[in-house]
Amino acid sequence: MRTDVFALRHIGVGEKDLQQMLETIKVATLDELIAETIPEDIRLKQPLVLDPPMSENEYLSHIQDLSEKNKVFKTYIGLGYHEAFTPSVIKRNILENPGWYTAYTPYQAEIAQGRLEALLNFQTMLVDLTGMELANASLLDESTAAAEAMTMLYEVRSRAKKKSKAQKFFVSEEVLPQTLSLLKTRSAPLDIELVVGNHEDFDFSDDFYGVLLQYPGKNGQVHDFAPFAAKATEKDIKIAVAADILSLVMLTPPGEFGADVVVGTTQRFGIPLGYGGPHAAYFATKEEYKRSIPGRIIGVTKDRDGKPALRMALQTREQHIKRDKATSNICTAQVLLAVMAGMYAVYHGPKGLEYIANKVHTSATTLTKSLEKLGVKQINSCYFDTITIKADAVKVKAVAEKHEVNFLYIDDNTIGISLNEATTLKDLQGIITIFAEALNIEANTIQELDGGSAINPAVRRNSPFLENEVFNSYHSETELMRYIKRLERKDLALNHAMISLGSCTMKLNAASEMLPISMARWGNIHPFAPIDQAKGYQTILKELEKDLNIITGFAGTSLQPNSGAQGEYAGLMVIRAYHESRGEGHRNICLIPASAHGTNPASAVMAGMKVVVTKTDENGNIDVNDLAEKAILHKDNLAALMVTYPSTHGVFESSIKEITKLIHDNGGQVYMDGANMNAQVGLTNPATIGADVCHLNLHKTFAIPHGGGGPGVGPICVAEQLVPFLPGNPVIKTGGEKAITAISAAPWGSSLVCLISYGYIKMLGESGLTQSTKTAILNANYIKNKLSGKFEVLYTGEKGRAAHEMIIDCRPFKENGIEVSDIAKRLMDYGFHAPTVSFPVAGTLMIEPTESESLSELDRFCSAMLSIREEIEEASSEDSNNPLKNSPHTLEMITSDNWEFPYSREKAAFPLPYIMENKFWPSVRRVDEAYGDRNLICTCAPIESYMEA
Ligand SMILES: *Cc1c(COP(=O)(O)O)cnc(C)c1O
Repeated sequence: MRTDVFALRHIGVGEKDLQQMLETIKVATLDELIAETIPEDIRLKQPLVLDPPMSENEYLSHIQDLSEKNKVFKTYIGLGYHEAFTPSVIKRNILENPGWYTAYTPYQAEIAQGRLEALLNFQTMLVDLTGMELANASLLDESTAAAEAMTMLYEVRSRAKKKSKAQKFFVSEEVLPQTLSLLKTRSAPLDIELVVGNHEDFDFSDDFYGVLLQYPGKNGQVHDFAPFAAKATEKDIKIAVAADILSLVMLTPPGEFGADVVVGTTQRFGIPLGYGGPHAAYFATKEEYKRSIPGRIIGVTKDRDGKPALRMALQTREQHIKRDKATSNICTAQVLLAVMAGMYAVYHGPKGLEYIANKVHTSATTLTKSLEKLGVKQINSCYFDTITIKADAVKVKAVAEKHEVNFLYIDDNTIGISLNEATTLKDLQGIITIFAEALNIEANTIQELDGGSAINPAVRRNSPFLENEVFNSYHSETELMRYIKRLERKDLALNHAMISLGSCTMKLNAASEMLPISMARWGNIHPFAPIDQAKGYQTILKELEKDLNIITGFAGTSLQPNSGAQGEYAGLMVIRAYHESRGEGHRNICLIPASAHGTNPASAVMAGMKVVVTKTDENGNIDVNDLAEKAILHKDNLAALMVTYPSTHGVFESSIKEITKLIHDNGGQVYMDGANMNAQVGLTNPATIGADVCHLNLHKTFAIPHGGGGPGVGPICVAEQLVPFLPGNPVIKTGGEKAITAISAAPWGSSLVCLISYGYIKMLGESGLTQSTKTAILNANYIKNKLSGKFEVLYTGEKGRAAHEMIIDCRPFKENGIEVSDIAKRLMDYGFHAPTVSFPVAGTLMIEPTESESLSELDRFCSAMLSIREEIEEASSEDSNNPLKNSPHTLEMITSDNWEFPYSREKAAFPLPYIMENKFWPSVRRVDEAYGDRNLICTCAPIESYMEA
């Protein structure tokens, strides 16, 4: 076997297995299977023209070389991004550990208690630091979190405000520029009118329903917002505050001065800058808004034995599940980064955070005094970590760049300096040297941090925080390492078994793709650093855009969106801008098939479109007659069709070209949801089927790990006519000629993890990518054949083939009293994570094995499913005391002296021989969803509960 061909490592099916599998599914060759699966008229006629594949070793030295092109300057730009130290124990045991980064969103709570606990820690940390009652885990970045606050407060504004049509939202002029840009994007399609100004001049008129303040302001000034907030509250105007997480260690928490929502980023809690992301944003609010919160909230509940257990609370109200009633479309969030930020607080504890915050603050006061001694004026009267200097910016910039230092140049005469955890005395001295040289005066020497304070008593924090046991226990490396391991052991990730989640494509996240994430020269670049310092990044981002253009057949790509759903929104906003540019801004109807993912209608509504749902026929395909009728009916106002291809039913619909033509003939653009791109790469593409724009989930098809529910990257690829509208950024130029305003805070979104997809494409090349697609289709059809006769596969293509995934019907088992969730939970006893449950059809499982799984793993999974099928046969609706209903079985149950079940312990925990080799123990019994929703608790138990115990 060639050891220098990455494709042979990425693809799980070897030459020998291939023959056996082809025999099972009764085709002579893989190409014959593909011919029976993908309609001829949409097959690519030529192979993709991509670079030849690199070996893993070639790639690692290539990426190392490229990293040398990034210049890592000492950077004090701030604006929401700060250099931070990732504690090595967190880096090695979480960021670099597949036990954490390959996990899926914790929908199957019984095998996800570890990351659920880590996320509960994250929420608790935020509730404490912000002084609010509830926090989610997590949002995509600070700016989108601020936009979510603007829209949520709009939804929940009081009846009086609704009646008086209060549509105005006030935005302080001290809000970060990227946030303002995003608020413009998000408010435009809704009826919200932004008013930007100085909060001190705000007139509190009745037209306003809400405000957004920045704390500290973008240039570092800390205002005492208490009087403002009191007046706003009196006028029934809701208050959102974007707050710097580290500053809250020292400043009065916004919850204490009357905020309704507090948002921000947790980047500086140990997360690399990564040229913009990924980082976890937070959203904290009051209990009364719990049903309107965007994203996921982790809550405490109990399991079947009454023991405490965690799960995603209010899950059915997760915003995008409300479809076109949703006010947010967030699905994939930033779980891995939230886990890390929460762990940073666990490791350092309240005293450690105080030390860090204090050091950062006194660095700023020390620097101020030292600069003042040089005769340089600093103008912030109250600040935490950011000072504003009056000096000749042109002169200072020239000297600073020579010394490899970046400041924020606010105007010709104003310079911002933001200090951080990594700032040393030597760095402060370096700054002094630069100013002295630029102003031609003699530098003074900084001996030590001066211990002064520039925080007015009115805004000084007095309340304690992080008093829970978890934040006061694991401050030695040994203790934290073991705590992380303890949590990890509770979670089933890809390093244990296949996770065959339909529509989510849980493929290999190869070590060689992941390694560069840890390199300092990729980690430590500020997103607003001058572009010529980021040549390494610019090279890989441009290459990745180019390769994605080739793969999709399109003309332009934006990497800015931080998730698939955000890509949907971006794509629809680009379509909107296109229609407007042609004087057809009235086009606002979006056709969406009934089977679409919930984010599709949610995104359409956010883009100001009206959703018209089209029917699905009995074979699961788009009902073309119904679609035609609706396209024609709405032809004067048709904006777009959103279509998933192959369909969410796992089928390449043969009428797709007819469908896309129909939309174009009626003046609409076609948006293809690219979540199923893993069935297309190298064989067909969105341009060929007639789409105009698609998003890709790089965290599905292009090997970015799911991280337990994020990070994600959801680039949009667009046809020629849409390229001019690709989204921009207010600080660094990016996007099209007529760019729409920002979709994400950072110019290229989550650049750091784009390295993973870049590596995936460069190491596979055309041949490996195409072979991956074919094998994904092979593996799905192999499972389909193995299960046939025992499980009914709903929907297949015209020749009876599945695409890369299939839906099996579990509704008939209700006769035996068995629900689809019983199968999902029983699979845990067999060591497997359930496939996708009840999407897109209730009562079904959607199985997607991906190309990375081997024949032996597929066989294990099929034997588990077939064994469960026999158990279903033995079950009866009269008696629920059976292994399916009682699943999952914990170690505690199995080893208990009382065994009162009518089946053996062996049948409960080791129903098949292979399990002995690799047993996974769920850490809790089945969780009670409803109990937790009735008694919502979303933080760690308070210190008192430990004292009572
Ligand atoms: C995953 C998925 C999405 C949403 O993507 P996120 O990255 O989670 O926002 C949209 N549509 C389909 C069909 C999906 O499978």
